[in-house]
Amino acid sequence: MNLLNEIGSAKNVGIAGHIRPDGDCISSTLALYAYLKCARPDIRCVVFTQDNPPSIFSYLEGYDEMNLTYSFDGKFDVFVALDVSSYDRLGDALTFFEKADKTICVDHHETNPGLADVNEIRPHASSTCEVLFELFEKEYIDKAVAECLFTGIVHDSGVFQYSNMSRRSFEIVGQLVEYGFDGPKIIQETFYEKSYVQNQILGRALLESILFMDGKCIVSMVDKKMMDFYNVLPKHLEGIVNQLKNTKGVEVAIFMYEMGTQRFKVSMRSNGGVNVAKIATLFGGGGHDRAAGVEMNGTYHDIINALSHEIEKQM
Ligand code: 5GP
Ligand code: MN
Repeated sequence: MNLLNEIGSAKNVGIAGHIRPDGDCISSTLALYAYLKCARPDIRCVVFTQDNPPSIFSYLEGYDEMNLTYSFDGKFDVFVALDVSSYDRLGDALTFFEKADKTICVDHHETNPGLADVNEIRPHASSTCEVLFELFEKEYIDKAVAECLFTGIVHDSGVFQYSNMSRRSFEIVGQLVEYGFDGPKIIQETFYEKSYVQNQILGRALLESILFMDGKCIVSMVDKKMMDFYNVLPKHLEGIVNQLKNTKGVEVAIFMYEMGTQRFKVSMRSNGGVNVAKIATLFGGGGHDRAAGVEMNGTYHDIINALSHEIEKQM
């Protein structure tokens, strides 16, 4: 896809990522926003986001300009969905997406069926930010764009650690760091640093985790009561599933938090032996081979049973 050609002579462009935005989602939407400011300064661009975008990303250019209320009259000439693998994940942006004259989707989820009129889905890319780098014309990448792209790659690759990092991903990171932002500070302050209560709730989740299937699986859950007690939001629980996954011998880690009565948000991580995207997709979710998520109804035990049944089939 030639992104600028696809955007063509659009006068207004809407941009959105997915609900409960993570690092790659916030970074990819702001990267495109900053890029279009350089490449097409005449375009009126609106970035939508919902569910309290994590404030750790407030150093990214455009963060304060994001539209949180979905207030926009009329329709967009072009609407770009980034890091969004299914229509339901567009949240409140779906109506703008549906009304737009033309839609574009850039993503890296293999479960993405191609949501838009024009799609660039690269399942082997580390992140949507990596795909955007490939689509951007280098003359319009400035420090702000580079900082966004770097942040997205850092977050979706667990600081360059996951198997989604290819030789090309490292080359791109190498080119990005040339722009002169403080990479180590971004990694420390947005990936590793947690608030005191976040660490406390992580500790609780680890303490109450259960190993099963001969130690090949681990599961833990945070209920509404605990979230209220520590006064944390879902976005503050990011990283817990990865820590569970770091348990020696574990092949699949499952973390869930209570969204409502008998409704849970489930996150799964795998070391590659089990394809967790396949399992998440079975229950209406999606993601990647080694990192996937889904919302499920039932009790904690119902959900563990349903998931472990599917995990067992793949083991
Ligand atoms: P996480 O477990 O960190 O929320 O998400 C892991 C991966 O699975 C991410 O790539 C995310 O986009 C995807 N994912 C998480 N939850 C859902 C969901 O409910 N539906 C779909 N389609 N994908 C999800
Ligand atoms: Mn992503």
